[in-house]
Amino acid sequence: MKLSNLILKAIFFTAIASTFLAFVINTLFEYNNFLNEKEQMRKDFTEQKKSEIKREVNKIYNYISYNENNIIIKAKEKLRNRVNDAYAIAYKIYNKNKNIKTEKEIQYLIITTLQNITYESDTYFFINSNQGRAILFNKKSYLDTVKNIWNLKDEKGIYFIQKQSNIALNKKEGFIDNFFVKPNTEKNKPHDKLTFIKLFEPYNWHIGMGFYIDNLTNETKDEVLKYIASIRYGEDGYFFINSLDKKALINDGKRAVPPLKYPNDSLFQKQLEALKNPDGGFFFYKFKKLNSADEKYEKLAFIKEYKKWEWIIGTGSYMDELDNDLLKKQKQLKNAIIIKSSIILFIFVFIFILIYFVSKRITSFIESNIINLISLFNSASSNLKKINLNKFSFIEFRTIAKKLNKTLKLRNKAEKRVRDLLEIINKNVIITTTDVSGKILSANDSFCKISGYTEEELIGQSHNIVRHPDMPKETYKQMWKALLNGEVWEGELKNRNKSGITYWVKATIYPTFIKEKIKGYTAIRQDITDKKRVEYLSITDELTQTYNRRYFNTKIEEEINRAKRNNYYLAFIMLDIDYFKLYNDTYGHQEGDEVLVNVSQVLIKHTARASDFAFRLGGEEFGILFSYKNEEESLEYANLIKGEVEALQIEHKKNKISPYLTISLGLVVREGKKLENVDTVYKLADEALYKAKESGRNKVCVSI
Ligand code: GH3
Ligand code: MG
Ligand code: MG
Repeated sequence: MKLSNLILKAIFFTAIASTFLAFVINTLFEYNNFLNEKEQMRKDFTEQKKSEIKREVNKIYNYISYNENNIIIKAKEKLRNRVNDAYAIAYKIYNKNKNIKTEKEIQYLIITTLQNITYESDTYFFINSNQGRAILFNKKSYLDTVKNIWNLKDEKGIYFIQKQSNIALNKKEGFIDNFFVKPNTEKNKPHDKLTFIKLFEPYNWHIGMGFYIDNLTNETKDEVLKYIASIRYGEDGYFFINSLDKKALINDGKRAVPPLKYPNDSLFQKQLEALKNPDGGFFFYKFKKLNSADEKYEKLAFIKEYKKWEWIIGTGSYMDELDNDLLKKQKQLKNAIIIKSSIILFIFVFIFILIYFVSKRITSFIESNIINLISLFNSASSNLKKINLNKFSFIEFRTIAKKLNKTLKLRNKAEKRVRDLLEIINKNVIITTTDVSGKILSANDSFCKISGYTEEELIGQSHNIVRHPDMPKETYKQMWKALLNGEVWEGELKNRNKSGITYWVKATIYPTFIKEKIKGYTAIRQDITDKKRVEYLSITDELTQTYNRRYFNTKIEEEINRAKRNNYYLAFIMLDIDYFKLYNDTYGHQEGDEVLVNVSQVLIKHTARASDFAFRLGGEEFGILFSYKNEEESLEYANLIKGEVEALQIEHKKNKISPYLTISLGLVVREGKKLENVDTVYKLADEALYKAKESGRNKVCVSI
């Protein structure tokens, strides 16, 4: 994908994502606000309704209370007026007739007049003398018969006639309150009766009238209920009144005459619960609306008890008004969201277009810079030349170009260093690579130089081309074993160049792998010919070319230890030329030296194996160290050497046991485990040689 396309896409994606996010977050906030508002609205609405219905109930409560209080006031006023009327009538009769009629006649006139006046609820006047005699009693005249009622008591034991007379005489008029069992009622319940009496001075009488309060109360209740049932307020507000004995007095906005048994037990229970608060209480329930059929709505009610009448006064308010309000609000919110979305969409389209042009411009800028960078980088990397920084309009690209220039500089430097190093390596390290079979694939200058072959001559050949015949086969066997195992082989190799000249290398050969499979080998070598020469000289006897005494001292120690470790046979022969002093004396020292060389060649020839060594221990005394031969084989080997020396047929006239030059040999053979230390081995060989000399020379003696 092109970077500019990616940037363009990224900008678009960011724009779309951020607009969308802004929209979602905004809507979520709005909705959350609405939910909170809804909750608040419900609370406010409920509170408002509560205070409204409470206010309405309290109004009714006060209305009832006012009416109840008025019963007595009204009753008193009525009684006073009526009794005053009766008094005025009686007085008028008296005044009119006092001079023309007898007292008795006048009294008759008064009584018959008042006797016939009756009012509603069967109320009537009575007249008693202030001494306790009934004059007009229960609508009957007692003028002609004496009826003493002085000691009459009411239900509470009050001498009410005496009390009335007392008021008449002392205060002229007044009210008294008594309790009587009403005539014509089934129950023997005393009823409160309010009475007003007034002194009628001419005859020392008192005229009075009484009302049963409960009659008045019932009348008032009736009026009150009639009125309350008719009240409507608000949209569909009305009152209900129930009595504590579970009767509905006003139900569903209508008076119930006679009172209904309350139809809903649980709802009534709710009301009793709410009434536990003496100031009234609220409760929620479901109820139909006044004009609805049977559908029920959530309703909040407030009720309060009018204790004196044991009435439950209540009214309720339907909560569905709130739902309508909420629905309205929800609609508003929806509209607001739609409007907002359209605005955001519009803004988005605008931003989209803006971004399109701006990002097009930006990306074309970036693109041109990138193209510049690529082309300059191409030419810089192929020509290794610095990039021209002025071709970039953005600092970032200039910085990249600067860094590239720096990298380029470092690269050039590093490349030069690598070239120098490679040259040094090429000159000093001898390198070849081969395929799996060992065929040469490449050879560096150093290899060509040391081997004397050109690279063309070498490619396709095996390394046998430089192999020296002296190199033991064993070495190559071990080398291949290691290499085929994927291991690195390290060792010293004696080679021979194109002209046949020997050279020595120290070689390290690495297998190279592809997917864990050996695909070839790389060999690096160091020319150690000089080192080998020095080493050779330091361990070789100059005259005889056998190993010297110094090398013997280290080698015998090593060989004994190795044989002990691996437990194989090790043998040591010490040999000495017989009567060599006489030879020198006879043929001269020079001839003697030549003999030493000839004998040595026999020894060298028979110690060609890597595990066999021939040493010149000193003068005409030699040592042979060899392995892997038991006593029998070793003795055979010693005798072979003895025979071959004699077979050289070097004339030695003074040799007392042969016409030719002979040698005597002392042999020590031991299994590794049974080997003694160097000194003992040396001593035992020396003793065996001595024995060979002693017992006649030209012999092999074995140390047991
Ligand atoms: P044998 O060993 O049989 O007992 O008699 P021998 O004559 O060999 O006795 P010995 O070992 O004592 O003599 C060693 C002689 O070897 C002495 C010396 O003249 C001679 N010799 C030692 N080193 C050299 C040398 O480098 N060159 C020559 N030509 N002669 C040497
Ligand atoms: Mg000797
Ligand atoms: Mg000798």
